[in-house]
Amino acid sequence: MDFEIPEELVDLKKSIREFVDKELLPVSQQVEDEDKIPDNVMKQMKELGYFGLPFPEEYGGMGVGYLGYCLALEEIGRANAAYSNILGAHTSIAGGTINLGGNHQQKDKYLRGMAEGRYLGAFGLTEPGSGSDAASIRTTAVKKGDRYIINGQKIWITNGPYADLITVYATTDKTLGARGISAFIVEKGTPGLDYGKTDHKMGLHGSHTCPLFFEDMEVPEENRLGPEGTGFYTAMKALDGGRVSLAAGAVGGAQFMLEASVKHAQQRHQFGKAIGENQAIQWMLADMETEIHAARLMVYHAAWLLDQGKRASHEAAIVKVYASEMAGRVADKAVQIHGGMAYMHDSPIERGYRDVRILRIYEGTSEVQRMIIAGDLLKNSSR
Ligand SMILES: Cc1cc2nc3c(=O)[nH]c(=O)nc-3n(C[C@H](O)[C@H](O)[C@H](O)COP(=O)(O)OP(=O)(O)OC[C@H]3O[C@@H](n4cnc5c(N)ncnc54)[C@H](O)[C@@H]3O)c2cc1C
Repeated sequence: MDFEIPEELVDLKKSIREFVDKELLPVSQQVEDEDKIPDNVMKQMKELGYFGLPFPEEYGGMGVGYLGYCLALEEIGRANAAYSNILGAHTSIAGGTINLGGNHQQKDKYLRGMAEGRYLGAFGLTEPGSGSDAASIRTTAVKKGDRYIINGQKIWITNGPYADLITVYATTDKTLGARGISAFIVEKGTPGLDYGKTDHKMGLHGSHTCPLFFEDMEVPEENRLGPEGTGFYTAMKALDGGRVSLAAGAVGGAQFMLEASVKHAQQRHQFGKAIGENQAIQWMLADMETEIHAARLMVYHAAWLLDQGKRASHEAAIVKVYASEMAGRVADKAVQIHGGMAYMHDSPIERGYRDVRILRIYEGTSEVQRMIIAGDLLKNSSR
């Protein structure tokens, strides 16, 4: 067993940390207040290759694998969850579906465009009647000559309002359930694609979601990803990577809150001494550090499995449930340590407390992850 992170990835993490400290952290509150990431910041992230970190170099990506990608998200997640959320939807799940299910031409056009920052990606699976039970989607794709006619609706699609492409999941054969779902690449501007109002969310300000409507939307057959009926499987496999990288962002967010809490515990004086001199505060800090450390190791292990080409659904579910719930506990302790000031809107701790809440819901709720973990245990007691 080797716990050493390869040198080139250590260097990548260091350079991203420097970028985050210089460019992202100073505008974190501005992103929250204006509900927008400044254009020049997005431009810099694209130019630095952050939108194609794990994609193969053959298709313009940085080829740093899932471990490199997770190390990057850990740093980026420290600044503001909006950044890691936009990147995660684009890279892990939209890009992941194309990377896993696409042919050479599709990857050469779309994955390359995504890696080079020309296309922003979104992943369109959830519908009003289909959340956790994702195989119950009602959007249909009916073949007509060399095109598919897609009808239906998606909701809460991250990057939806401005994505250049969306991976859309639709039923091509209702009788087959999950095995009748196919995936398509839909470009912005496709006739029949319409957008609902941008959602007003509890947190993740600066990252946007919206409903998407498809009315007789025509998509060329060449934009179908893989054979008919493989879309659900590809989406679930992409979600394995999504859950691991989401956990990496959670570790980064939690790390930020721990660092802020340590500083506050040293600087804030009550009863004539620093509050950090009290065991009650020390134990909270120790628990935060312990849980972050555990989640970080889980992320690195699951990312390593993915980089070995191994199936990691079980480990992805474990790290997703643990890291997302860990981030909630860490955020809660950070609020406690900061006292009343963490209840104020201009506090990054207040923002972090709201931002981490979604981690237990999207890309499969905590309950869904526990269903996967327990299901694996009961199917295979020799694990
Ligand atoms: C900010 C945000 C961004 C999102 N981005 C995207 C995106 O980019 N693309 C996309 O496709 N979707 C996206 N989603 C949707 C997200 O993936 C869903 O919200 C999530 O899958 C849960 O579905 P649901 O909200 O409909 O909850 P439901 O499925 O209605 O679940 C409600 C509750 O019931 C529980 N539950 C359901 N079934 C069971 C069961 N069998 N046993 C025990 N408990 C159960 C759930 O765990 C949950 O606690 C986003 C959502 C949000 C809020």
